[in-house]
Amino acid sequence: MKRNSILLVDDSVLVLKMLSAFLEKNGYRVTTAMNGLEAIEKVYNEPPDIILLDIMMPKMNGYQVCRLLKNDEQTKYIPIIMFTSKDKPIDKFWGLQTGADAYVAKDIAYDKLLQIIATSLEKVKDRKHKKLKPEQPITLIDILLKTNELLDRKLYEVTIINRITTLSRNIHAYKKIIDDILTILYELINYQLATVFVTDVNSGTLFVKSDLYPHKEDLIELENFCLSQFQVQELETPPLVESVILAPEEAEEAKIITDAEAFYLFQSKAKEIKEKENIWGGFIFYGETVKDLSENEKAILELILEQAFVIAENAYLYEKIRLKSVTDELTGLYNRRYFFERLTEEYEKTKRHSELEFSVIMLDIDHFKKINDTYGHMAGDVVLKMLARITKNSVRTTDIAARFGGEEFIFLLPQTPLKGGIVFAERLRKTVEEYNFQALGHKIPVTISLGVSNYNNKLPYTLDEIIKNTDEALYQAKETGRNKVCVHEED
Ligand code: GH3
Ligand code: MG
Ligand code: MG
Repeated sequence: MKRNSILLVDDSVLVLKMLSAFLEKNGYRVTTAMNGLEAIEKVYNEPPDIILLDIMMPKMNGYQVCRLLKNDEQTKYIPIIMFTSKDKPIDKFWGLQTGADAYVAKDIAYDKLLQIIATSLEKVKDRKHKKLKPEQPITLIDILLKTNELLDRKLYEVTIINRITTLSRNIHAYKKIIDDILTILYELINYQLATVFVTDVNSGTLFVKSDLYPHKEDLIELENFCLSQFQVQELETPPLVESVILAPEEAEEAKIITDAEAFYLFQSKAKEIKEKENIWGGFIFYGETVKDLSENEKAILELILEQAFVIAENAYLYEKIRLKSVTDELTGLYNRRYFFERLTEEYEKTKRHSELEFSVIMLDIDHFKKINDTYGHMAGDVVLKMLARITKNSVRTTDIAARFGGEEFIFLLPQTPLKGGIVFAERLRKTVEEYNFQALGHKIPVTISLGVSNYNNKLPYTLDEIIKNTDEALYQAKETGRNKVCVHEED
């Protein structure tokens, strides 16, 4: 049987000697190369069955060799085992990104290495190697030309930056983008907890990613730390920070920052903080592996994080614009257009699934005209804002509360039976009745009337009819005395 050939590439004579002897003893034919260029020359002139490749080498390093060979149709089927003394996640990441078939630490047990070689060979056993014995020997110049072609594109551009920038296609999903960025970065640094802070002078978001659900105190600590680190102290009033936790759904709440000393911080370059349009912030990673990052790794990380932050920044801006386009300016509730978008979605879904249903509730302030007439239009506006805040606090995150127009609000309560809708409306009515509305020095008594309706796919209604049903229920509440809840009943 023909013996398999191994090309062993390492810049250490000692390693070459020891490994060659060992591999030959185990039945392989071994050729060696002491740097990347020599390795490539040998591959093209005398293609081996498998390559064992060191990373840190003069002239051309292992990543570059690997990238070159894996990008060439002729050589991409030759298995490459990246072989290095480093075993940090960042090395492994680059190794696998460049297309290596396996990655082993240099201090791996020799019998384990044999196993990996055998498995790698087994995988390509049936692949017909294109015989690439060239008519004319490949020269160093040929190789350099090929190499330049590939490497001129900066190494980082074709790998992680690429992966991160493809995320910007998801620009509409702010939270998802940040989550994806942090997931990619986890491959690089195995952090225990990561935060991304994105802010402008008015408001900011702090994303916290971990396998566990952070304790409230941890979160406050993180928020304060971010505010202190990211130059916010230069501002007279700090931006309003909203925290978003990125944790698996089943994550348990726990104290998670075990070693607050072990962190790595990246700051985006804030151009002019006081400027309104300016967005700044950065990343903080916590964990033991983070503490041990080498200067070299930090340098690579800086490049990547700079790119990643640009994406976070864009996602933030996009989210702001998006929110603006779906929000009612006075009340901060969703606007009518957005409400109908979501209602349509829910309606279509419910029409297809018999187990689904939803409730719609309309709210109208009683004698609001009189409030305006008595206390002034400005006071009326304040009442609208306060009422909006009350309603926002009484809905679940899946519910949609919107300003329907004037002094009318509307609610969509997905997966809520009629009974649930009535309970919600009655609770809201009572809260408003008991609430101490104050505007421009006046104490203003406010009551509301509400209409409730429900839809499931056994009912014959169109969307317009659902709205009409709800409106009629509201009208009935007005007609029969106000400050009450009426229901559209099926007969
Ligand atoms: P009812 O109990 O029958 O609902 O009586 P109402 O006075 O509340 O109803 P009507 O529809 O007659 O009047 C609604 C008033 O709401 C008239 C309008 O000036 C006022 N309004 C609508 N939008 C705004 C707003 O944005 N700000 C203020 N301050 N008032 C508004
Ligand atoms: Mg009205
Ligand atoms: Mg009214």
